[in-house]
Amino acid sequence: MEAATEFVVESPDVIYSPETIEAQYEYRTTSVSREGGILKVRPTSTRFTFRTARQVPRLGVMLVGWGGNNGSTLTAAVLANRLRLSWPTRTGLKEANYYGSLTQAGTVSLGLDAEGKEVFVPFSSLLPMVAPDDLVFDGWDISSLNLAEAMRRAQVLDWGLQEQLWPHMEAMRPRPSVYIPEFIAANQSARADNVIPGTRAQQLEQIRRDIRDFRSSAGLDKVIVLWTANTERFCEVIPGLNDTAENLLRTIQLGLEVSPSTLFAVASILEGCAFLNGSPQNTLVPGALELAWQRRVFVGGDDFKSGQTKVKSVLVDFLIGSGLKTMSIVSYNHLGNNDGQNLSAPPQFRSKEVSKSSVVDDMVHSNPVLYSPGEQPDHCVVIKYVPYVGDSKRALDEYTSELMLGGTNTLVLHNTCEDSLLAAPIMLDLALLTELCQRVSFCTDIDPDPQSFHPVLSLLGFLFKAPLAPPGSPVVNALFRQRSCIENILRACVGLPPQNHMLLEHKME
Ligand code: NAD
Repeated sequence: MEAATEFVVESPDVIYSPETIEAQYEYRTTSVSREGGILKVRPTSTRFTFRTARQVPRLGVMLVGWGGNNGSTLTAAVLANRLRLSWPTRTGLKEANYYGSLTQAGTVSLGLDAEGKEVFVPFSSLLPMVAPDDLVFDGWDISSLNLAEAMRRAQVLDWGLQEQLWPHMEAMRPRPSVYIPEFIAANQSARADNVIPGTRAQQLEQIRRDIRDFRSSAGLDKVIVLWTANTERFCEVIPGLNDTAENLLRTIQLGLEVSPSTLFAVASILEGCAFLNGSPQNTLVPGALELAWQRRVFVGGDDFKSGQTKVKSVLVDFLIGSGLKTMSIVSYNHLGNNDGQNLSAPPQFRSKEVSKSSVVDDMVHSNPVLYSPGEQPDHCVVIKYVPYVGDSKRALDEYTSELMLGGTNTLVLHNTCEDSLLAAPIMLDLALLTELCQRVSFCTDIDPDPQSFHPVLSLLGFLFKAPLAPPGSPVVNALFRQRSCIENILRACVGLPPQNHMLLEHKME
């Protein structure tokens, strides 16, 4: 039996009109103050009105690095699902699916039925979302291979699937892109046969023209731009260069130092398109963030949270959350795809190392019983390029924690999986959730003017290794806190209380 996916909330606080879902929502939280050595905690309540437009747009996604392993795999995955493809393998017939996508393969509990059983629906049915099969792709790559050839180069998909997809992907050609050699590894230079000539200002204009061209030629309502190109080295934040929106725009006009990814971010923001950064480098320099704020355009980043870091943000949360004192985290990776080759250069590795390192900070800070101020576990990250293993990334982790009375617990993990098959569903979720957030507005009893979420879309934290948050907001890395954040905000938009897991109904006599 197919699970029912549609539901209606029957409540005086929720109004469905043909255009919107409007929900009155009581946001209950607490404020804490320190008074005379005592923490005073006061429950607070704010009344929100959430309004979500129900009309789902025709959405285009432009991938920077379209011809890479992630770009070609995501495009192939959507086509394979749209075409309902199946293909034989040595273990039997496989069918296209969206495993690994929170929105497409995750579920949420709506509550208990008459028998006291929980009723689950797909995450995607919480609010109207774009169906992934309807996404339209375009993008840029410094490598000119068409998407069918790029899929073959990536060596991610079974041959039987590649053969069926080939005619559908052959005509897809990445647009020329901005290549500035000093930002990615020298070993990438042979790929760069598809580049936009001219000054930085001319390149910016060309990217903007590309976005407009895609939007009009494909008849789209909205475009979202996603960076999935190679990891760049960090770029220095320098006052006068990239610290404010004005300085960043002047820097581009003068042809001073700006990274390709920042050029794409600026172009997207100027075109009113959300920009998401799937790589670790600091693309969203303060000037780009200020520009996003000024134009009220969503930005999100950094670095897809796909494998090892995802596990880390669960495991360390479990360890510290259980009261064990994790003292050492050592992570080795080896991989043999082009990403791995690029990361074999020290400046690009450094970007990845930084983004992988901050992932346990919030969990450590959350527990002053275990950690004194400033105390941190040792945390070491190693990445090696081993061509033979291709896209099948290996991650070996060792976690050492202190137990009571001088005991030690060492956990060792070995994880093998196709890197791009983990990343592609995350890219999908990023586009779908960002688009949904663009249709949500809210006001409060204190501030009745409708507003959108802050342009730094921290709700996406579940999907990013080093999540960006608005200035002054806490950064959350713990995976299930991040998931609850998305789930509970979406529930609020349909007037449902946060998921509290108390199940009190089953704890009474
Ligand atoms: P890839 O090397 O296969 O693809 C990157 C593509 O970007 C290549 O086709 C390359 O030609 C292109 N490129 C490089 N510079 C460009 C530019 N300036 N403009 C346009 N195109 C450019 O790598 P991948 O495995 O697809 O990973 C892409 C990015 O995602 C990497 O930065 C990687 O670190 C990041 N990432 C991947 C995962 C994962 O699980 N696969 C997880 C987190 C982050």
